[in-house]
Amino acid sequence: MPKTVRSEADLLALIPEAHRRTDEPALPEVTEGELMRHYIGLSVKNHHIDRGFYPLGSCTMKYNPKVNETAASMPGFVAQHPLAPCPGALGSLQIMHELTEYLKEISGFDGLSLQPVAGAQGEFVGLLIIRAYHLDQGNVRKKVLIPDSAHGTNPASVVLAGYEAVQIASNEDGIVAPETVEAAIDEDTAALMLTNPNTLGLFESNIEKIAKIVHDAGALIYMDGANLNAALGIVKPGKIGFDLLHFNLHKTFSTPHGGGGPGAGAIGVVKKLEPYLPLPVITKTGAQYNLDYNRPKSIGRVHNFYGNFANNIRAYAYIRTLGAQGLRAVAENAIINANYLRVLLKDTFDIPYDRICQHEFVLSCDRQKKHGAKALDIAKRLLDFGFHAPTVYFPLIVHEAFMIEPTETESRETLERFAETLIAISDEAATNLENLTGAPHTTPVRRLDETRAAREQDVCFKG
Ligand SMILES: *Cc1c(COP(=O)(O)O)cnc(C)c1O
Repeated sequence: MPKTVRSEADLLALIPEAHRRTDEPALPEVTEGELMRHYIGLSVKNHHIDRGFYPLGSCTMKYNPKVNETAASMPGFVAQHPLAPCPGALGSLQIMHELTEYLKEISGFDGLSLQPVAGAQGEFVGLLIIRAYHLDQGNVRKKVLIPDSAHGTNPASVVLAGYEAVQIASNEDGIVAPETVEAAIDEDTAALMLTNPNTLGLFESNIEKIAKIVHDAGALIYMDGANLNAALGIVKPGKIGFDLLHFNLHKTFSTPHGGGGPGAGAIGVVKKLEPYLPLPVITKTGAQYNLDYNRPKSIGRVHNFYGNFANNIRAYAYIRTLGAQGLRAVAENAIINANYLRVLLKDTFDIPYDRICQHEFVLSCDRQKKHGAKALDIAKRLLDFGFHAPTVYFPLIVHEAFMIEPTETESRETLERFAETLIAISDEAATNLENLTGAPHTTPVRRLDETRAAREQDVCFKG
């Protein structure tokens, strides 16, 4: 026995007397069948993508192919020690290297890191790269411009990275006008952060003009890539003026997520930003893969090991399963589904930016509110019919917002059933308001005090 391995008695002696257990822990005694019923019971109390439609805008809750789970749980990956030296981890390095190459091809960028573990962390890492780039040029810039339709993580990341967030207005078409950027930008501006398509589900069609303005001012342009589901195989952000972007691999490339994780926020950058990418970078020489730490301009490591490796495998499996044509079909079907729903609902709900949308659209429940039904009430009532509610009250520029993203794999029948249900709920606002404001009626719990639930969490096992 190697001398570092200690006996149980030796280990026990390390624990002070006062901290040792004196009685047996009260672990639940259950049979395998009971355990199974416990988890299945919990899973049917919860609403999830395997149980029903989940049109949560901005989150891309798409079908998660089960073959991805098989790939991510293969023993060769699961048993791989994260500190294994490169020659003993070639398979894992190969997967990461190939995924890096695919994502570069999809996005049109030159360099890429898989390390960030959330879209929000990708933003933060992107901003650190922006800072490192400007410092390298001998410039200290202080401001980052963000449109008023942006996701809340954008200004949060900007502040976390030590910049000041400056809000700019979208125009009456729901997109950013070049003149607005021109008026707001100056020599103190480090970057513009733009989501494309934006959170109204609209393509920022002025992007090339805007990129020119930003670059002429010596600033960089960052793309929040959370909505890449609409662009796969159609638009390469790296070729239309963006300097860097984060992917939300868990959204666009199908990892089950929610409740805070697990995420993967790979970032792609143009050539001139490559030296600043996080450490290490995976390299390939002949058939050998390696980790390159010798990058003096790097912003350094941003997470343990190489990010959420299992998410990377799922993204890899998804890309390999679909291929180039399949990925393009994802985007096309996402766009068709969102527009089909938009048209089915446009006579019943106000749609402030009503034109051809990308993967999602935002309607307003203002008309229903005149009868006393808020977006929140309508969202709660949807639960009674087995639908997850869309994102509500976001983006902030739409009153009583309902942000709907159906995703590409939903059938026409599901979309029609959802639209019919929403229309029936809208009727209820006029005819049976109390039923609506008291919803949900059929879920295991009714309306929650969400603030209290977040502050006073009760996560104990109860037999
Ligand atoms: C989801 C999302 C983010 C944040 O990504 P996380 O992976 O949840 O941290 C940022 N911007 C937009 C538009 C998003 O939809």
